[in-house]
Amino acid sequence: MRVAIIGGGAAGMITAYLLNKQGHDVEVFEKSPVLGGNIITLNKNATPNNSDSDLLLEGGVIEFSNSFVYFKSLLDELDVCYEPVNIGTGVFYKNGAFILSSIMSRKNFRGFSLLKSFTKLHLLYLKSILLGIKLKSISLSKARHLSLKTLLGKDTTSTNWLKLFMMYSYSTDYRLLDDFSSEIALQNIKNYMLAGWFRIPGGVYTYIEKIIALNNGKFHINSEVRKVLREDQNVILEIENGERLLFDKVVLAIPPHQILNLLQEPTSEELFCLQKWKGNKITTIIHQDDSLYKPYPIKRPSEFDFFETKSGWGYNAILNYLCGIDPLPKYFLSYNLESLIDSRKIIHVANHETPLYSQNAVQHRSKLISLNGHKNTYFAGAWLDDGLHEGATISAMRVADLIK
Ligand SMILES: Cc1cc2nc3c(=O)[nH]c(=O)nc-3n(C[C@H](O)[C@H](O)[C@H](O)COP(=O)(O)OP(=O)(O)OC[C@H]3O[C@@H](n4cnc5c(N)ncnc54)[C@H](O)[C@@H]3O)c2cc1C
Repeated sequence: MRVAIIGGGAAGMITAYLLNKQGHDVEVFEKSPVLGGNIITLNKNATPNNSDSDLLLEGGVIEFSNSFVYFKSLLDELDVCYEPVNIGTGVFYKNGAFILSSIMSRKNFRGFSLLKSFTKLHLLYLKSILLGIKLKSISLSKARHLSLKTLLGKDTTSTNWLKLFMMYSYSTDYRLLDDFSSEIALQNIKNYMLAGWFRIPGGVYTYIEKIIALNNGKFHINSEVRKVLREDQNVILEIENGERLLFDKVVLAIPPHQILNLLQEPTSEELFCLQKWKGNKITTIIHQDDSLYKPYPIKRPSEFDFFETKSGWGYNAILNYLCGIDPLPKYFLSYNLESLIDSRKIIHVANHETPLYSQNAVQHRSKLISLNGHKNTYFAGAWLDDGLHEGATISAMRVADLIK
């Protein structure tokens, strides 16, 4: 069967791999000049745009939870190696206060200062017990109908930390998190938060390279699909250069808020499931400015550091350990901290577009999944599950199972 896949991010590429393995004739159409979507491994699928660094640094997707069962088995099948990492975290308030995880406390303090840091952390754990019990008792199906604000209740230090974790996981502005989907948040908290992490030596893009090498299909870059016309027996794609191509089936592996721009004559059910989705345009910065830490007694930053600024919250993640490079000089990936970063120390600026996981959009995903196959059309994307790489893999497996 001739299958067109629109979108060369994780979900599109994994779908291409699985369908190709099943013997289908697969073509991937990616609008940007590189494959990988939110995977940006400098000096693999991206060239630094503000320096001549030749290091393999991640500007998007970096690490994965140990509970990503399906993604791990894909990496095993592709013979891509991965290794566990011990990740610390810190929350830095603009009034100078801070709370560190035990890994980060041990890295930065000794003696009394270490004891003081542990005490602060354990007080936070104690204060979080009731919230933990409440979250444990709520099912994902009940959470589907709740916004994050309703799920978490009033703002406390514990709810603040969970919201920061969501800001990090889904690159979503802290101020938009009240309307965030509790279903996605709870799935993440329950399955991943305490499970530990792993990284891919050689960069995340390594597994995309493997898929390209193993695939007999075609990968078209700089090929934006403008229209998808569906007929009884086939699908016609109109590409940005005006070319029209005929396929048996189409897989839409693009963010949900972009789908209706492409689909000609969407069904009422497709409209119902997709029209509430909005996009989330964000910028990440790879940089070398560690002056963010100057107001705090911190010499060793961590991989999940959250900073409160005058305009809200952002994150700063040290990349050295996660990218397998020497500990010095330090490199960071930051989001929403432009005001704190010296522009002369920027290595690369990356623009991303993700779905905005608002509760009112997310709640209709299962209906959309049930439409897979109608009008020779299938949907894939991390957004159809956990919003992360495990979700991208699961959505691709679902489509591959249906297109036997
Ligand atoms: C900064 C950042 C960091 C992240 N870090 C992690 C992490 O560490 N771990 C993790 O598991 N997840 C992480 N994520 C989440 C990540 O988005 C998902 O894990 C996954 O990469 C999403 O893949 P996808 O294929 O669903 O979507 P995308 O990566 O968004 O891919 C969609 C692709 O479709 C293309 N496209 C859109 N419209 C068209 C069109 N009309 N024609 C042709 N092509 C089109 C886009 O250019 C894009 O390449 C991160 C996300 C961001 C933004």
